Amino acid sequence: MFRVDKLNYYDKFSCSMGDCPENCCQMDWNILLDKAAYEKYQNCEDKRVSSFISDESPHLIMKKDGKCPFFQEDGLCFLHREYGAEFQCETCRNYPRFTSVYEDLYVVTLAPSCPAVLDILWEEEKTEIQTQMYYESQEELKEKEFHVSEEMAGKLAFRTQILKLAQNREFSLGNRVRMIMDSLGVPEVQADSFENAAWMLEFVQRKCLVNDKIKAQATMIKEKKTALCLETIKNAAETYQEFTKFFGHLLVYSIFEQVLHLKDNSEKTKQEWFEKICLRLATIQYWIVALYLAKGVVTREDCNTAVYSIMRVIDHFEGMWEDYYREWKRTGKKIPEVLW
Ligand code: SF4
Repeated sequence: MFRVDKLNYYDKFSCSMGDCPENCCQMDWNILLDKAAYEKYQNCEDKRVSSFISDESPHLIMKKDGKCPFFQEDGLCFLHREYGAEFQCETCRNYPRFTSVYEDLYVVTLAPSCPAVLDILWEEEKTEIQTQMYYESQEELKEKEFHVSEEMAGKLAFRTQILKLAQNREFSLGNRVRMIMDSLGVPEVQADSFENAAWMLEFVQRKCLVNDKIKAQATMIKEKKTALCLETIKNAAETYQEFTKFFGHLLVYSIFEQVLHLKDNSEKTKQEWFEKICLRLATIQYWIVALYLAKGVVTREDCNTAVYSIMRVIDHFEGMWEDYYREWKRTGKKIPEVLW
């Protein structure tokens, strides 16, 4: 018997392929090969395939000019086109779907580093968690009760408690985040955090300019060189009230995707975990507010560019998010206020 927990919009995903505004195959990510794909590619008589496979373990697709060598100008995959979808490795077939396994529980998510996922979020009214049981024998079917360890049961109860607060639409997103922080005993947020926005913007400028679209945003923000102030932040939040729902989905995703990874149930671990989520969300939001200040307007597309680009760095490069958080802690600043 096992259980699958997934977000309600999971099955709505479909890859935009040639219409994708920023194809994932253009990212300088390591594309790890599963055993079956490695053997298939290695034994493939087509040198256009086998010559791009690394011999050393773990086996990877070797990049060409920082991109997947199978990515073609029309945005389609050479392997998919020549040999069909089944020929692709698991990494490519699955992205942006991710599965984490905890005992007999499978948690499946969609990564917001993919623009098609963000398009779904804009349209989704509410994020819900759907739970499905799978039974592998008649005996299990009779048993019905799903068992996890005491530690995992504690984490699941904690997830329920935090998600309830995160989804309470009677409050603004910033207030929901504060309520979660209160429940975790996190010290107060930085009320004047706009003064520290420069620190977050600098991080994005330094680490997250992974494509031409966010580079163009960075240039606009740099040229404007106006410091964020409380008034701009308030204006942006009031002008773009529909962003509350969008950022709310990102908050719920972050909690759902991260919470069962917690290394223990201690107060400190939970506080740090949530602070990191807040820092990530605030970084994206302050970037969007800075863009609003520079351009005078922010479109959904602008917002998507910022989210998928920043998430492609923070969410996918191991250690980057952790380093960012540690750097922030070293400054002695409190966690910035989450907006909207
Ligand atoms: S980023 Fe998403 S929509 Fe774009 S090509 Fe990759 S999986 Fe498809």
